[in-house]
Amino acid sequence: KTPLIFNRALWETSGHWSHYRQNMFLVESEGEQMGVKSMNCPGHMLVFGSQVRSYRDLPLRLHEQTPLHRNEASGVLSGLTRVRQFSQDDAHCFVTEEQIASEVEQLLKLVQRVYGDFGLEYTAKLSTRPEEFLGEVATWDHAEAALKQALEAAGQPYDLNAGDGAFYGPKIEYTLKDALGRQWQCGTMQVDFNTAERLGAEYVAEDNSRRHPVMLHRAIVGSLERFIGILIEHHAGALPMWLAPVQAVVMNITDAQAEYAASVAETLRKQGFRVQTDLRNEKINYKIRENSLQKIPYLLVVGDKERQAGKVAVRARGGADTGVLDVGAFAARLSEDVALKRSNPQ
Ligand code: ZN
Repeated sequence: KTPLIFNRALWETSGHWSHYRQNMFLVESEGEQMGVKSMNCPGHMLVFGSQVRSYRDLPLRLHEQTPLHRNEASGVLSGLTRVRQFSQDDAHCFVTEEQIASEVEQLLKLVQRVYGDFGLEYTAKLSTRPEEFLGEVATWDHAEAALKQALEAAGQPYDLNAGDGAFYGPKIEYTLKDALGRQWQCGTMQVDFNTAERLGAEYVAEDNSRRHPVMLHRAIVGSLERFIGILIEHHAGALPMWLAPVQAVVMNITDAQAEYAASVAETLRKQGFRVQTDLRNEKINYKIRENSLQKIPYLLVVGDKERQAGKVAVRARGGADTGVLDVGAFAARLSEDVALKRSNPQ
C-alpha cells in the first residue's frame, strides 16, 4: 500500500502535474500542495527506486488495490461505472527489455483465465507508436514485436490499432461486451519506457551498467466498481451462484421452525456458503416473493414436515420447485453450481 496523498513534487516529476492535474483532487498542508493519487504508478516507481536493484530481482511485480480518486465532472458520474473514488486491480511489473514478451504472455494468459471465469465476451487490440513519441524507434520496434509475440504465444486474436499507443509506449487493451451489446474497456497492459527514467529508477545490469527498467502497467478487470457494475447489468442482477452475495435464504413457515431454519443456515455457512435466514412473522408467499425479487439463487422453505425429516424444500431462482432435499444433498448441489460456475441454479 502506498500513501493516498503525495507531495506536488512527485506529481511534477512524474508529469501528472502538467498533464493530469485537472483530474486530480488537491489538498494543502503547511503551505505545501499535495495531490490525492489518481493512479499508483509514481508510488510504485518510488518503491522500486528505494533500494539498489539487480537484474536478478527482475521481473519485480507490485500490486495494489487502495482507492484512487479522479476529479470527474459531476455531470459525467454514473452509477458504479463512472465514479470519483474507485479501486483498480493495479499492478506494475518491472522488467528488462528482453523480458517484455514472456511477462506479457503470462499476463495475457491470466486475463484469459479471469474473463473466461466470468463468461464475458472480449476482444483485444494492440496500439502502436504514435506520431509523437518518446524514446528510440528501435526500442519501440522491439517492444511492439515483443507484444505481438506474446499475443501469438497466448493464442490471443487481436486487432491492430496502428499509431494509437501512448507517447511513452505501446499497449494492449481489452474490451468487454455486456449482454446489452455495450463495450467496456477494462484490462490494459501498457509498456512504459519513460516513467523509470523520469523518476530515476535503475537496476544494475549483468555487465554492471546502470539501466532503467521497463515498467509494465497492468490491470485485468480495471476499476472494480465499474466491473461489478458491468456484471450486475450483464446478468440483470441475477448473479451466478459463485458470485451472488447471498446464495440462499432459509425461510420458516411458522415460528415452530424458526430454530430449525437458523440451524440449517448455520450448517451451510460453516461449509463456506453465503446464507441468510428470513424468520419474519410474515406469510410464506410474501417472503418468497420478496426474496425472489432480490434474485437470490436458492430459496429454502422449511415447514414441520421438513423439520421432522431434517430436510429443506428447494426453490431455484426462476420459480422452479426442485423438491425436498437433505441439507447435505443441497450443499452438494451448491458446491457443484459454484465449481462449474453455472450462471443459473439447477
Ligand atoms: Zn500504472
